[in-house]
Amino acid sequence: TSDILIVGAGLAGAQVAVSLRQGGYEGTVGIIGDEPHAPYDRPPLSKGYLRGEVGRPDLALKSDDFFGDTGVELVTGRTVTEINPADRMVTDDNGERFGYGQLVWAAGGSPRRLSIPGAELDGVLSLRSLTDADRIREAAGSARSAAIIGGGHIGLELAAAFRHWNVPVTVIEAQDRLLARVTCPIVSDYYHSLHRNAGVDVRLAAGVDELVGEDGRVCGAVLSDGSLLTADLVIVGIGLVPNIQPLARIGASCSNGVDVDSDGRTSIAGIFAVGDCANREHPYAGGSRVRLESVPNATEQAKIVANAILGQPQASPAPPWFWSHQYDTKLQTVGLLAGHDEAVVRGDIGSGKFSVVYLRNGVVIALDCINNVRDFARGKLLVQEGVRTTADAVRESADLKFILDSVGA
Ligand code: FAD
Repeated sequence: TSDILIVGAGLAGAQVAVSLRQGGYEGTVGIIGDEPHAPYDRPPLSKGYLRGEVGRPDLALKSDDFFGDTGVELVTGRTVTEINPADRMVTDDNGERFGYGQLVWAAGGSPRRLSIPGAELDGVLSLRSLTDADRIREAAGSARSAAIIGGGHIGLELAAAFRHWNVPVTVIEAQDRLLARVTCPIVSDYYHSLHRNAGVDVRLAAGVDELVGEDGRVCGAVLSDGSLLTADLVIVGIGLVPNIQPLARIGASCSNGVDVDSDGRTSIAGIFAVGDCANREHPYAGGSRVRLESVPNATEQAKIVANAILGQPQASPAPPWFWSHQYDTKLQTVGLLAGHDEAVVRGDIGSGKFSVVYLRNGVVIALDCINNVRDFARGKLLVQEGVRTTADAVRESADLKFILDSVGA
């Protein structure tokens, strides 16, 4: 039995343990994770690690000594399948039971699967874990051509890796633009050109009806227009399904993920949830529920839960942010752009260094900054302060700092 039992040895789970100890928590803390590894960093899996520039030891989120030194007990290779809230026990896939005082559910999500014929063929992969990244690296070594289903950030980072390896690659996206869920058409178009110029075959408004194989191995995809695309490696990047089944079975309120309050509590007494699986009322979404999949979100939520357990006041919420690296292009996004009524471009798109500032009723709610670290740094403050301005001021200020200065923020 642990006073605090954390399910999921990923980023959010590890951060809860770290923050509890940093906050002086002296009770027993346990973590159960289903992967064979200690907690590691996922973003490099589609970036530096995939390309072989970041080594495996560099992925570790904590040194080997951390768990021993802080008395956090880490159990790997076990999947928690059941929660019994009346007895405050969980059961794993070996039938072993673990007791808890308070439970923190930090199980992340699993790649959404395709439900079309051929989806189970060999050579059809997805990317969430270190094991997945190793499989992709190995398969890419002998691939003659690859297809990526889904034009979101992970799919596009993968496309960039394939071009790095000089493997012909096609990106198949169901929407009529790339990154449709997360950005505006201006930024989508920029990424489309970037990938096209790198030699990626981008197919928009395209579906996949079937994957076809030879001797059990994928060799192509039948697209919705009836055409056959040749590919001996297919990667499915169509989003994440939150891992919340044991919580849903015991009646926890779930919508898109498990619902949590501003302290990270689920609707079941003694159970918190954090990270990619948690759907929270977000102060930067006007209090609406959002489920974010990002490192800064997982870190912030973990700190919130640790504070709640420690009985400490919560810090004021920071604007959500995210980054992506593709080729030499670094995107940094801050804020939530849903509901914007103006998208104002700063800088020259053709130069590869620009920003898009999103306004709602004249208030800065979000920015997409492409190779523009300075705008990102200022933009964070603009979003945090909810600064009111005009499209002209945003477009023409040599430095967004002048807008901040003008409102005294
Ligand atoms: P995870 O890190 O997924 O950890 C959850 C852990 O729980 C996993 O190890 C899982 O296997 C385990 N688990 C699941 N179910 C059970 C169970 N029943 N019992 C026990 N263990 C279980 N974010 C950014 O901000 N920027 C980026 O550039 C970026 N790039 C990314 C690239 C890739 C390839 C991926 C996959 C993600 C990327 N992300 C990025 C997202 C970021 O990594 C996640 O938001 C973050 O890891 C979420 O942390 P988490 O702890 O909620 O989930």
